[in-house]
Amino acid sequence: MDEAELLDKDILKGLFEQGLMGIETPGDYGGADTSFTAAIIVVEELAKIDPSVSVVCDVQNTLVNTLIRKHGTKAQQEKYLTKLATDTVGCFALSEAGSGSDAFALKTRADKKGGKYVLNGSKMWITNSYEADIFLVFANVDLSKGYKGITCFIVEKDMGVKIAKKEIKLGIRASSTCALSFDDVEVPEENVLGEVGKGYKYAIDALNEGRIGIAAQMIGLARGVFDEALPYMYQRKQFGQAIADFQGMQFQVAQMATEIEAARLLTYNAARLQQEGKDFVMEAAMAKLYSSQVAERAASRAVEWVGGVGFTREFPIEKFYRDCKIGAIYEGTSNIQLQTIAKLLKPTYV
Ligand SMILES: Cc1cc2nc3c(=O)[nH]c(=O)nc-3n(C[C@H](O)[C@H](O)[C@H](O)COP(=O)(O)OP(=O)(O)OC[C@H]3O[C@@H](n4cnc5c(N)ncnc54)[C@H](O)[C@@H]3O)c2cc1C
Repeated sequence: MDEAELLDKDILKGLFEQGLMGIETPGDYGGADTSFTAAIIVVEELAKIDPSVSVVCDVQNTLVNTLIRKHGTKAQQEKYLTKLATDTVGCFALSEAGSGSDAFALKTRADKKGGKYVLNGSKMWITNSYEADIFLVFANVDLSKGYKGITCFIVEKDMGVKIAKKEIKLGIRASSTCALSFDDVEVPEENVLGEVGKGYKYAIDALNEGRIGIAAQMIGLARGVFDEALPYMYQRKQFGQAIADFQGMQFQVAQMATEIEAARLLTYNAARLQQEGKDFVMEAAMAKLYSSQVAERAASRAVEWVGGVGFTREFPIEKFYRDCKIGAIYEGTSNIQLQTIAKLLKPTYV
C-alpha cells in the first residue's frame, strides 16, 4: 500500500467488519458502543503495523463520529453515524491553503439561499477524503464576523465535493490526503451540524481530543519499530555475539523503551481525564508533543540499530521512519502544542 500510495479496499472493509470505525458509536446506530480509551488503544494497536491504517480509523472515530455524536440532531445521528459505523468513510475538512495553524482564518464561504447553504472555496490536506463520502466541512457564513461565522456542515460527496488533488507524501502514504474544491455546492439547512457560528468551538474541542489519538498513533508506531528491530538485533551476531547484547546497544534500547513507556502513560492519562470529564487539554497537548518526539527518536535510532537493512525497503523500519514525521505536524504542529501547554500553565503561577 505504501508503494502504491493507496489504501487496500479489503483493509477498509475489515475495519468496518471488526467494528473499528464506530468504536464509541451507540449500538442502535451499528457502533461498538465502547469508550474513548478503547478508541485510543485501537489506534495504537493498528499503528504498530501500519500508521496509515491507524490514522484512517483515528480520524473516523476521534473527529468525525465524535462531532456528530456530540452535536448532531437525532435524524443526523441516525443517518450518518449508522453509515459511518458500517460502510462509509468520513473526513474532517478544516485546513485550507491559507489557514493551517491559524485554522480559523479559513475563507471557504457558506451563503444562505432559501433553505440551503451554498458552499464555495477549497480545503487542503484532508485525510481520508479520497475514500470518503461524508465530509464535515467548516465554512464561514459571514466573513465579517471572523471566527464567529464558522459553521460545520455535513456534506455528502454527491452534493458536489470535488477532489482537486491527491498529495504525494513522505510518509503515511496509504492514507489519502487531498485538496478539495467546492463550487456552488448546495447543502440543505438540515445538514448544519449543531449551531450556526459555533463551528470554531466544535473544531477546537474535537482537535483537543483528536490529539490524544495522534499521540496513540505515535506510540503504536514506536512499539512497531521495537517489534521489528529487537528480534533482529537478538538474532544478528557480530564479534561473536548478538548485537543487542552489546552494552552500547542495551543502554540505547533501555532508554528508548523508557521513553516509549512514559509517552504511553501520558497518553493513557490524557484519555482517562477526557473520559472522566475532567480538564485534559494540556495533558493532550503534552501527550501528542512528547509521543511524536519519542516516535521520531525510536524510528531514527532503530534504522541505525539494525544497520544496513534498516536503510532498505526489505525491512519496514525505514517506512516507520518516514511515517513518524507527520506526528509533529497534523492536528496542531509541535510549536502549537507548546503554545497550548505554555498558555495553560501560566495561570498556575501568575
Ligand atoms: C498528511 C496530512 C494530513 C492532514 N489531515 C488533515 C485533515 O484531515 N483535516 C484538516 O483540516 N487538516 C489536515 N491537515 C493539515 C494540518 O493540520 C496542518 O498542516 C497543520 O495544522 C499545519 O498547518 P500548515 O501546514 O499550514 O503549516 P503552518 O501553519 O504554515 O506552519 C508552518 C510552521 O510555522 C510554525 N508556526 C505557525 N504558527 C506558529 C506560531 N503561532 N508560533 C510558532 N510557530 C508557528 C508551525 O509550527 C510550523 O512549524 C493534514 C496535514 C497533513 C500534512
